[in-house]
Amino acid sequence: MRPFEYRRAEDAGGAVTAVAERPGAMFLGAGTNLVDHLKLGIAHPDLLVDVSRLPYDTIEARPDGGLRIGSAVRNSDVAAHPLVRQRYPVLAAALLAGASGQLRNLATTGGNLLQRTRCPYFQDVTTPCNKRDPGTGCSALEGHNKDHAILGASEQCVAVHPSDMAVALAALDAEVRILGPAGERTLTVTELYRLPGDEPQRDTVLDHGDLITAVDLPPLPMAARSAYRKVRERASFAFALVSVAAAVEMGDDGSIVSARVAFGGVAHKPWRARRAEEALRGARPEDFRAAADAELAEARPLAHNAFKVPMARNTLVAVLHDLAREEERA
Ligand SMILES: Cc1cc2nc3c(=O)[nH]c(=O)nc-3n(C[C@H](O)[C@H](O)[C@H](O)COP(=O)(O)OP(=O)(O)OC[C@H]3O[C@@H](n4cnc5c(N)ncnc54)[C@H](O)[C@@H]3O)c2cc1C
Ligand code: SF4
Repeated sequence: MRPFEYRRAEDAGGAVTAVAERPGAMFLGAGTNLVDHLKLGIAHPDLLVDVSRLPYDTIEARPDGGLRIGSAVRNSDVAAHPLVRQRYPVLAAALLAGASGQLRNLATTGGNLLQRTRCPYFQDVTTPCNKRDPGTGCSALEGHNKDHAILGASEQCVAVHPSDMAVALAALDAEVRILGPAGERTLTVTELYRLPGDEPQRDTVLDHGDLITAVDLPPLPMAARSAYRKVRERASFAFALVSVAAAVEMGDDGSIVSARVAFGGVAHKPWRARRAEEALRGARPEDFRAAADAELAEARPLAHNAFKVPMARNTLVAVLHDLAREEERA
């Protein structure tokens, strides 16, 4: 690990200035992702500005019925919060599906959103990787690509985004509040992330020095009936092969009035499934499969991950059946 300077941020403005002024500076949340990258030689910051103790450690109910989650709130505390569990169960379930209890007790909301891909070639500095070293090539394209993207990938990178929380937030249309050198702004979670294109080194549209200060969950009554399902190789402590976050509003006749759907494990970003949502308007259970297929028609599997297409379809169909039955019982 190379030597670096460490500073604990006293206030948000000072943290932003400290990072923005130094090209080699980075924010530090709990370090559960970043410190591994220092050890692996993937990241080489010369200054770490610790933002985990800034006063962004609360979850507040908003007057409009939404919630504001500070960027320093730990993943366990978000998952356990009574209003999250009651109003946005999809978010609590997504968080509890991630990592381990010990990691969730440390990991912050801001750090979880900005954790980097788990592509094994990205984590192995002896292999070519356009995301780690732009212009060197993509080892996964012709390599072992079972875990990689089936939607929205490019010739430059086929990595997937690893955050479970981000998938739930994408389905909920959550907004990320950002403080940057030029002031404050907000982006939806879907807008925050980018597809790899020819700049796979950029996971998000954030600029150097942009600090995430909070995540806003909009008021969304239908989110009280929402669910997250993660398919993985072990029952815990594994990243998603495929995951689905969904919320539905059912009509009295048993058809779907409106649905929110996002996939994880299939793309460089949480994949908001707008085609499936469109096809689900007015849909009955016998239509769920076709709605999933409408979204997955553009899937372009790699040599080792064609299984993800039926897996994504079946997982979405199963989640929709569960939510529809839950509505019936209510
Ligand atoms: C063994 C293991 C298993 C895991 N399994 C899962 C899993 O199944 N699902 C899952 O979702 N995650 C999983 N994780 C990842 C874990 O959730 C992340 O490591 C964690 O959420 C990162 O949060 P952090 O606060 O430690 O971030 P850090 O490691 O401190 O930072 C991560 C990145 O975010 C940046 N950053 C941090 N805070 C801010 C901020 N406020 N504004 C701007 N930038 C910021 C940092 O500069 C860095 O680039 C796993 C991790 C491990 C080690
Ligand atoms: S998929 Fe992306 S992260 Fe993985 S080796 Fe290729 S360029 Fe690197």
